Amino acid sequence: MRAFEYHAPTSLNEALSLLQELGEAARPLAGGTDLVVQMKENATKFAAPSHIVNLLRVPELGGIEFSESVGLRIGAGATMAEVAESLIIRERYQAIVEGAALVGSIQTMNMATVGGNLCNAAPSADIAPPLLAFEAEAVIVGPAGRRSLPLEEFFLGPGKTALAVDELVAEVRVPVPSAGIGSAYDRHTPRKQMDIAVVGVAATLSIAGNRVERARVALGAVAPTPVRARRAEGALEGQPPSDDVFARAAEIAAMECSPIADVRASAEFRRYIVRVMTMRMLREVRDRARSG
Ligand SMILES: Cc1cc2nc3c(=O)[nH]c(=O)nc-3n(C[C@H](O)[C@H](O)[C@H](O)COP(=O)(O)OP(=O)(O)OC[C@H]3O[C@@H](n4cnc5c(N)ncnc54)[C@H](O)[C@@H]3O)c2cc1C
Repeated sequence: MRAFEYHAPTSLNEALSLLQELGEAARPLAGGTDLVVQMKENATKFAAPSHIVNLLRVPELGGIEFSESVGLRIGAGATMAEVAESLIIRERYQAIVEGAALVGSIQTMNMATVGGNLCNAAPSADIAPPLLAFEAEAVIVGPAGRRSLPLEEFFLGPGKTALAVDELVAEVRVPVPSAGIGSAYDRHTPRKQMDIAVVGVAATLSIAGNRVERARVALGAVAPTPVRARRAEGALEGQPPSDDVFARAAEIAAMECSPIADVRASAEFRRYIVRVMTMRMLREVRDRARSG
């Protein structure tokens, strides 16, 4: 790993000033579970930063809060362990807890942050599909102030986001969940633990009477970015939450994604898994709604 200068700002303003001053030469560091590995492994082809700006002592980036009027705020520096253990999130946004709880081992979850997972922009990032399914927004801070971006627009491609070099993700905002909403996230991996998603599927459903009023389906690892399956959502809304309707939506989700073939799975296998997992997640949400 190339030598670098280390900075440990203790406020958001200080962190932003450093990033502005150092420009391309600097990289923010949160838990380091992606960045440090990349710096070690790709020392020759990775544009090795000569300055590291550690965000862990920036208090403005921490915390998890919920209010009935505004919804959920997850600080970019919140760890996966904090999210997975949050009762506030579990009660209202179960799929987000389920995504966080799948990130690596306990040790990884204690270091890995929500901001790092999003900014690393892996198509397989486990926190992304649940946040997309809840229509979350990234709150971005930089020299020009604060701006909010729907997560769908935040991801631009593998490893690419809408962030400028002198900007940070400060927090993620998730709207107040609609009445009767249920959610679920799971992924398929060849190994049970310590593996990344071959396919990840998150679903949220608002069911009123015998109709799906609102449906969101988000997929991981089957496109250059985590994506919403909008045509599948359209096939669910206004319909009864029946197995037949779910099977049709799952088939549509499998058709509308654009998986690649790689060493971990063929494109056909990924499509097949999208169908199976979407069906499973939709049933799971419906069954939770009926039992809860
Ligand atoms: C053993 C192991 C297992 C793993 N398993 C999984 C898994 O199952 N699922 C999964 O999704 N991931 C997994 N990962 C990947 C990783 O843990 C996650 O992506 C993690 O959430 C990254 O967060 P971090 O805080 O460590 O980010 P870092 O490594 O510190 O940063 C990642 C990137 O984001 C940037 N960054 C960080 N915070 C900000 C911010 N607030 N604003 C702007 N840029 C920022 C950094 O500059 C860097 O480019 C695993 C990693 C390891 C080492």
